[in-house]
Formats: sequence, structure tokens, C-alpha cells
Amino acid sequence: MAFPELHIYNSLSRKKEVFTPLNPPFAGLYVCGPTVYGDAHLGHARPAVTFDLVFRFLKHLGFKVRYVRNITDVGHLENDADEGEDKIAKKARLEQLEPMEVVQYYTDRYHQDMDRLNVLKPSIEPRASGHIIEQIEMVKTILDAGFAYVVNGSVYFDVTSYHEKYHYGKLSGRSLEDMMAGSRELDGQQEKKHPADFALWKKALPGHIMRWPSPWGEGFPGWHLECSAMSAKYLGQSFDIHGGGMDLLFPHHECEIAQSNAAFGHDAVKYWMHNNMITINGQKMGKSLGNFITLREFFDGSHKALTGAYQAMTIRFFILQAHYRSTLDFSNEALEAAGKGLRRLLHAMDTLKNLEGSDTPTVDVSGLPQLCRNAMLDDFNSPVAIAHLFDAVKTINAVNDGKERISKSDLEILRNCFDTFVTDIFGLTGKDDQAGDNATGVISGLMEIILELRRQARQNKDWETSDKLRDALQKLNILVKDGKDGASWEMTN
Ligand code: ZN
Repeated sequence: MAFPELHIYNSLSRKKEVFTPLNPPFAGLYVCGPTVYGDAHLGHARPAVTFDLVFRFLKHLGFKVRYVRNITDVGHLENDADEGEDKIAKKARLEQLEPMEVVQYYTDRYHQDMDRLNVLKPSIEPRASGHIIEQIEMVKTILDAGFAYVVNGSVYFDVTSYHEKYHYGKLSGRSLEDMMAGSRELDGQQEKKHPADFALWKKALPGHIMRWPSPWGEGFPGWHLECSAMSAKYLGQSFDIHGGGMDLLFPHHECEIAQSNAAFGHDAVKYWMHNNMITINGQKMGKSLGNFITLREFFDGSHKALTGAYQAMTIRFFILQAHYRSTLDFSNEALEAAGKGLRRLLHAMDTLKNLEGSDTPTVDVSGLPQLCRNAMLDDFNSPVAIAHLFDAVKTINAVNDGKERISKSDLEILRNCFDTFVTDIFGLTGKDDQAGDNATGVISGLMEIILELRRQARQNKDWETSDKLRDALQKLNILVKDGKDGASWEMTN
């Protein structure tokens, strides 16, 4: 079977390359998944939707794709210099839970969020904690190859000796001198021979909850190791595509490249793909900036920065409207515009069902599928494909208004093209999800009405009605909070 020429921008070579999989018709895709210690936010939605698009389009082209997306449930420390508490252990300590309770809870919620975004499930979703043996084996191999050293129960990757044979920094373009200058003085750094060295295995201090026996004593794997070990296990020591957010390029993916070369003697990944970041009103997202909006807050409109609730499909469409390598800036206006655009597209699909073909057509849309396909073959250029679909929307509406006529065969082409691209490849559906409604937010609107009624009841000292409303809302997992400037609400489930 011959496959059409798909061009993929490779972050490693920094140019577009023709996709030639190692073992066609099979294609291996590995994507770094979430560290499950909190709810997914907009920054998680972008890689999930981007690589869902890649997964869907590769399948559309006829490849048999094995898509592996991991769950990080151990080893991701609070900073990138191998120091600080494990993110999951910290959450478990604060909430007085077992770490694996935290992992299960947020993994389930992540899956619910992904389902609402219509992100297809990966073929395999391995967890780091389920692959400790594989990770220990990989550390042993790297030690045997002479690219790591043991200090006081921890094993560090020896960047200097690695760099003599390979090139550390080839993905990020950073030099060892830069990394030296950029490193901070932190506890434990003195164990390392070079500040750029990173932990393959960390000794567990007393009180550290997640710990496993190893040849170097009790400890836990370094964060970068899980992806190298699990991708090798499920996709082989050489595989096609590795994806993730641009924020993972350094150090995470740079370290993955070093680990693979050190262990296997060659690069594991043929094509590195990175989606760009989402900013919020031009600013980076961050907890400290107060603009950290979870997907659930988008869906129910409960975050104060939002003017209403947004459908999951609107968020999906908003992401697909930009090329994955462009930055994408969130604002309420941009998201409302995406919602309107999506409704126009889906409405045209409905209209299409009822149109009748003519023997004397005035329009020719037979080239549309090829235009959409060519856009996608050019490094998954979804915005260009969407622009072509919007051109067709104009034609559909003109035919519907009696201003143009379309042939029966073109009508069939349009219907197939919309089904293929809108439904199958872009994964956009008209089905409403549970809480999010439209850009103005029906739930938010209803809550305003209810809270106003409750305010009036309280003004009239009708405490019975006021409490009844509060209790009824609580049964729906809506918590009403009375404050100085009136009542506010939030979803508690
Ligand atoms: Zn990873």
C-alpha cells in the first residue's frame, strides 16, 4: 500500500521532513501525558488535542498506529533540578491520602475531561510506577555503558562523558556552558559532578513515601527515565514519533535523547513533534499569576476570569483553529468567536443533509477534499483545512438560499468531506456535553437568576426559602458561598 507524502516538522532537524515510518504500515507514537496531582487545565488540553489530531490523521491515511501516552505517577519533583518533594507525594501528604489514591482520583478526572474533549483513548496508557523494573534495568545499562555514576544511593547521568561521544543539547540547542550558567545552587547539587547532570535514580530519604528496592538501595526513578523505558518497552528501541508540549523540550526530552543514546547507542526517536504553548491574555499560565484555569472551570464557567461556561467542543475547535506550532492566546473574545465559528460549521453540516442536487449547477466544489487533505499533509495544518471548509460553508448557505445550484455528485463530495474532516479527523461533534452549554453559559445565567431569588428571599428575612435553595443546590454539587459583596457559587464535584 502506498501512503501519500506527509510532511512533519521535526524539532530535532528543525525542518519539515517526509514521514517515512520505520515499519509501515505500522506507526509508533509516544506522547508525554500528565503528572496526575491536579485537574487538567488548558495547557493539558493542547497536547492532548494536537496529538489526537495526529493519531486520527495517521489512521485516516491507513497507518496502523500504536499510540502510547503515559501517566506520570512518580518521580516528578517540584523543580527540574532533581530537588523538592515529589508532586504526587506532596498532594497525598496535604490531603492525607495514599499517593495512589491521588493518582487514581486525578487519572479518572483526566479521562473524563479527555472524553468531553472527544480525545480518543491511546492504545496503551502506561504508568511510571508500573514500570520500575524496566527503569532499573535501563539505569543498569547506562551505568554499564559508562554514562552514569552512583553517589550515596543515587545514580546520576554523566552529561560530560556523554557529551564527549554524543551531543547533549542537540534538541534544545543549548550548550553545556549555558546550562552551567543557568543552574542554581540547590541542596543535593553537590552530589553531581556537573550541574547539568540529572538523576536516573534518587535515594529515598526517610519519610519519602513512594520507594522501591534497587541495586543502589531504596529509592525512586528520575522523572525523565520513565518515558525512555516505557517507549522502548511498547514501541521498541527505535520508533517513529515522539510528541509533547514545547515546555518539555528541555530538560525532559533532551534527557530522554541522552538516555536512549547512552543505553541503545542510537537515537530512539525519528520525528520529534512539539506543540506550542497557550497563553492567557498574552501572559504565560501559572498558578502564581491567578490565571490557571482548569478545563472543568471552563466547562462550568466558575472561574472569575471567564465570562461564561464553554462547551468542550468549543475548546477543541479553538485549539484546532491554530497550527499546533503557533502560540495560541486565550481570551473570552477568542473563545466566543471559536464557539460561533464552530456552530456555523456544524449548522452547515445540518443544512447539507437537506440540500438537493441540480442538473444545472453553478458551483464546483469537487476540489475541496484534496485541498483539505493537502493542508493536513503539510504538517497537520488544521487552520488551513478549516479555512477551506469555511469557504464551502459559504457555498452551502448560498445553495440553501437559492442563490447557487450544486450538482448531485458535488453534494455527495461535500457530505463525505465534512464527515471525514469535521467528524473523523477534527473530532468535532454537535453533541452537547453535560455542563458547558454555550459561550454565554446557560448554567451561569441560571445561577444568576437563582442567586437573585435567594438574595430577595434573604432581604425579606425569608430564611426558609433561602436555605431551601442553598440545600437544593448543594444536592447538585453546587456550593453557594455568602460573602461581603453577595453570594458566589462553585461546582464541588
Ligand atoms: Zn515524557
